[in-house]
Amino acid sequence: MDYKKIKFFAIFICIVLGLSVFAKDEYVDLESLNIKSNSQMTKSQYEHAKKILYQLQKETPKQFNNNYGPFLAAIYDDKGNLIAKAQNSVIPSCDCTNHAEMNAIRLAQKKLKTYDLAPYNLSIYVTAEPCIMCAGGIMWSGIKNVYFSVYSKDVESITGFDEGFKPDWITQFKKRGINVYGGIEQDFGKKILTEYVSEGKKIYKPHRCEN
Ligand SMILES: [Zn+2]
Repeated sequence: MDYKKIKFFAIFICIVLGLSVFAKDEYVDLESLNIKSNSQMTKSQYEHAKKILYQLQKETPKQFNNNYGPFLAAIYDDKGNLIAKAQNSVIPSCDCTNHAEMNAIRLAQKKLKTYDLAPYNLSIYVTAEPCIMCAGGIMWSGIKNVYFSVYSKDVESITGFDEGFKPDWITQFKKRGINVYGGIEQDFGKKILTEYVSEGKKIYKPHRCEN
């Protein structure tokens, strides 16, 4: 091979490698995917979150057919290891604080023997947007990333659950160094919640006095 050919070949390889690095770091168009977020998200990050949330949605009916609530949460470390997974157990445990996220946080902290998960660089994946209580729990747990499927407004309109008031929580989380990505696999999530309601499962909430 002469010098010119070697030079051409080397340039060609550099272009291919350069393009592959560029493609790897490409960001998704959050707006076109109806994803509400306080950070940018790469394509591989999106695909990874989609895979986990799809699996959690798929497992949800099995949980609610065993008298659990229609929500699941899983916590992973940055190497993709599962640290904790939990379902909403409000009804079987007779404890209104046992939402999926709270249960998963408790399990992770027990497993890692710490109240502060921040050094572990963890992500929580939830089948629906965290409610007012779980947003608080996540904030104080030290978890770094939150990925969820169904937005609270849709959870409320489909099921009638009260998700609480959370003014601007996604921006507030950013100020505390927590990335939030919402709306991933939301259509599948809405279908599962609709199933929960159509099967006549319980919508548990406290009775309130009329004002
Ligand atoms: Zn909650």
